[in-house]
Amino acid sequence: MHFINRNNPCWCGSGLKYKKCHYDFDQKIAQYRHQGHIVPSRDMIKTPAQIEAVRESAKVNIAVLDYIAERIKEGVTTEEIDRWVYEQTTRYHAIPAPLHFEGFPKSVCTSINEVVCHGIPSPDVVLKDGDIVNVDCSTNLNGYYSDSSRMFCIGNVSPEKKKLVEVTKECMELGLKEVRPWGFMGDMSQAINDHARAHGYRVVKDIGGHGVGLEFHEDPWVSYVAPKGTEMLMVPGMMFTIEPMINMGTDEVFVDEEDDWTVFTDDGKPSAQWEIQVLVTEDGHEVIAY
Ligand code: MN
Repeated sequence: MHFINRNNPCWCGSGLKYKKCHYDFDQKIAQYRHQGHIVPSRDMIKTPAQIEAVRESAKVNIAVLDYIAERIKEGVTTEEIDRWVYEQTTRYHAIPAPLHFEGFPKSVCTSINEVVCHGIPSPDVVLKDGDIVNVDCSTNLNGYYSDSSRMFCIGNVSPEKKKLVEVTKECMELGLKEVRPWGFMGDMSQAINDHARAHGYRVVKDIGGHGVGLEFHEDPWVSYVAPKGTEMLMVPGMMFTIEPMINMGTDEVFVDEEDDWTVFTDDGKPSAQWEIQVLVTEDGHEVIAY
């Protein structure tokens, strides 16, 4: 026989007795698990000290994206954007998380028009009038990770592409509204998928978001097409990305055979993406990086 000693210190590191800290919380999660739901494991729940360290990392990530936002324009190469990201991130004594991550050669992803994600910066790629481009920054500060991305419209963008960019941002915001403790990840993804489909767009199914904080990419894998009431239970202390990739045409995508990174839409039509990093709190959510 082994009884849980409720007078032992809590696993979260608060120094409180377990019964005074996460005991009721663990019981509640266990009830959901018994009902057949997917529930987070303990290592997906960040402590207050970890959350604070991730917030510091996110301040750098936001500052780097703000720096890009002020300078990005027609005629800039994606190589220059990469250099800006490297210089600014290291200026804050942080490391660009994408650099050498699983062999990725650069500090940032730059994905233009029909590129869905993971575009590799290059001196040969010049931003043109009418382009839509996603700049995806991720920061490692003292071993804590942040991740967010924004879309930029270069010069005179067609109304169709501008609308795709705007609706994709709305999708991300509508998904965010569904992030609350004791809800499900599927509540967030259905809100995103419904809004995209209402505009005739398709959400990419094969690439999702992820947990983030102690690693660049952690569990859970995050779908943006799952139905309401499905997928993982959201509990306070979980942190993940909302980063739907939304295509004007088909949701089918393929990976470039040459570089093994760049993801394209199958039909060559444009794709957009916005990414935020969100924390589930006791009474809702907190945006950590945007
Ligand atoms: Mn991400």
